[in-house]
Amino acid sequence: MIKTKEPAFVIQEHRATHLHYDFRLEMDGVLKSWAIPKEPSMDPKVKRLAIRVEDHKLGYENFEGVIPEGMYGAGPVKIWDKGSYELKARTGDKIIFNLNGKKLKGEFFLVKFKKAGPKSWLFFKTSKKID
Ligand code: MN
Repeated sequence: MIKTKEPAFVIQEHRATHLHYDFRLEMDGVLKSWAIPKEPSMDPKVKRLAIRVEDHKLGYENFEGVIPEGMYGAGPVKIWDKGSYELKARTGDKIIFNLNGKKLKGEFFLVKFKKAGPKSWLFFKTSKKID
């Protein structure tokens, strides 16, 4: 059996016009991406809005630097958290995964939040205990 590398996740703190956190999961050969307007939390009671944005190319999970003036998203980007993840379940409107980062660890949910619009999801930590 070939042991495949675990897929990556990253959260990039992005000080563009508005500070936000770009959450990206390596999936289907790209980085599936969501923009989270407020800092993600390990508290299961804190559910963050996550807006689905365009996929990014693999490799961008390592990017830190400044997007120049005049370009879309101009402003500094730094890695807020990074690591691997384990996919646990995935449907069209729900993704469940274990994050193995420095700040975020354990099981998280991304679920579609249709009330808030077609690209809106919620990102939050699962409240169940991990044995
Ligand atoms: Mn961004």
